[in-house]
Amino acid sequence: MKKIQMVDLKSQYDRIKETVNSGIQEVLDNTAYINGPQVHSFQKSLEEYLGAKHVIPCANGTDALQIAMMGLGLQPGDEVITADFTFAATVEVIALLQLTPVLVDVEADTFNISIDAIKKAITPKTKAIVPVHLFGQAANMDAIMELAAEHNLYVIEDNAQAIGANYKSKDGSSKKVGTIGHVASTSFFPSKNLGCYGDGGAIFTNDDALAHTLRGIVNHGMYVRYHHDVVGVNSRLDSVQAAVLNAKLPLLDQYNDARQLAASKYSSALANHKNIITPVIEGAKDSHVFHQYTLRIIDADRDALMQHLLDNGIPCAIYYPIPLHAQKAYADSRYDESDFPVTNQLCKEVLSLPMHTELDDEQIGFITNTILDFLK
Ligand SMILES: *Cc1c(COP(=O)(O)O)cnc(C)c1O
Repeated sequence: MKKIQMVDLKSQYDRIKETVNSGIQEVLDNTAYINGPQVHSFQKSLEEYLGAKHVIPCANGTDALQIAMMGLGLQPGDEVITADFTFAATVEVIALLQLTPVLVDVEADTFNISIDAIKKAITPKTKAIVPVHLFGQAANMDAIMELAAEHNLYVIEDNAQAIGANYKSKDGSSKKVGTIGHVASTSFFPSKNLGCYGDGGAIFTNDDALAHTLRGIVNHGMYVRYHHDVVGVNSRLDSVQAAVLNAKLPLLDQYNDARQLAASKYSSALANHKNIITPVIEGAKDSHVFHQYTLRIIDADRDALMQHLLDNGIPCAIYYPIPLHAQKAYADSRYDESDFPVTNQLCKEVLSLPMHTELDDEQIGFITNTILDFLK
């Protein structure tokens, strides 16, 4: 059996080596390392793929979130609601911009931000909601957009984990996640569903005026060369990374299909076990692109199971072990433990299995049998 990896970037690279290498060679030959033609063509291809009017490439997914918030003109003291159960980048940029993070609980079945919890958290100071499409699954965007319209709030989708997922609205229309809110951010970190070979990110919006503002912010607040109209940042996707992304974007749907197939094999092998809750897909089948395949282990020793898997050469991980409201950097007397029953519970139960585009049946069988052997 091929050695099991949490993410197998090498086997994936081997299959696209020629395209990637020739794309990178082109950058080396024409020396436009920054803002080369590869960046522009990737931007256009991604706009087309997503059905988004504007894609603004930038240096990473954390910058993308920060720049989106700067572009919306959020001001210190404005309250921004986001999920307690996510990667820290989401709350980090809120805090960095001196906005007030308002962490709320998530849903136990989808791991995504709870609509009831958002409702309870809205105050006259609330300016934005940041849903994270966690582990690759679209958040409940219909309900979030309705709340936002009712309270005049911006919606910033953190789409770092769900690029390519589709969200089917109540009205029957289907859109790519990241094109539903006012603005969205994504990350091209190597292990993400569309990953480059270094850091990369992008912001998407359908709003022409906001897109113009964002294009200036990523480039030192310049709209005309050496005229700095607003305080900006330096956040660029480099041409080498764009060349990698140009090779991989045409394969994104195939990659997401491979993840969904691996997920369905895991789920059938682990179905109906008293100690295992397999991921729940809410809505259309393609609303979950399985950035992570995350189980809940109930009434059993999750940590001992994890050690057993590691001892058998099966990498696995806990995303995420500590709720954000309990992290030193984000703890606040405004929060009460009773506000986060689901997140607190999930942090004790979740276990993410290897998930990537290269998993084969032998590996999936070995992983699921090792789990079932341990739990009996
Ligand atoms: C990866 C990730 C980010 C940050 O992306 P980087 O490119 O690593 O800065 C932000 N939010 C979520 C939910 C992520 O998973």
